[in-house]
Amino acid sequence: MPSATPAAPKSSAPQGYFQNIWYTLKSIFIGMKITLKYMFSKSVTISYPFERLAFAPRYRGIHEFEADICIACDQCAKACPVDCIYIDKSKPRKIDKATGKATGGDLLRFAIDYQKCMFCALCTEPCPTDCIHMGKNHDLSAYSRQDMIVEFAEIDRDGLRTPIPLWMERNQDIPWVKSEYDRVKSGELATKDADIPSM
Ligand code: SF4
Ligand code: SF4
Repeated sequence: MPSATPAAPKSSAPQGYFQNIWYTLKSIFIGMKITLKYMFSKSVTISYPFERLAFAPRYRGIHEFEADICIACDQCAKACPVDCIYIDKSKPRKIDKATGKATGGDLLRFAIDYQKCMFCALCTEPCPTDCIHMGKNHDLSAYSRQDMIVEFAEIDRDGLRTPIPLWMERNQDIPWVKSEYDRVKSGELATKDADIPSM
């Protein structure tokens, strides 16, 4: 059966030899031209975490959660398109008008699985007590899948609104990291209208 692809024209051995040299030199030249072009252009990457970029004011990062005003109504979990919010309570909870805090049953669990979360912020919109917010931290790198599930009700017992990730623990000699660490440790929420400036 005849071949569908026409055979390449045969070249003589010396001609093919010099053609190969020409192609090699040409491809080296093209590669070096691209390398030199980018070698002298301004870098678009930064050396994180020693430097960091400022995010837009409405950037959606790892959540910040105020457990003391969460009534465990499940509205956020129902709104979540990927079902990554897990809530458990001992009894119904409601806001005490005198204190402004949630009373009734215990919030046994409020967890978000960041292997699934897509930072859409749909969970924050139906919350009747405005206790779940998108934060400013984008980095939750960890060594295990389990560590990507943040147990917000548990960290609240340590006064935290959002987790302190490993990189934040380990890089406190960097001024902006130390300042973020101190903010998170104090339970202060991230500002909604500003971000840490570019370094
Ligand atoms: S940000 Fe979106 S995906 Fe993540 S927990 Fe909220 S609703 Fe679910
Ligand atoms: S919607 Fe708000 S109050 Fe209701 S469970 Fe979610 S975070 Fe708590």
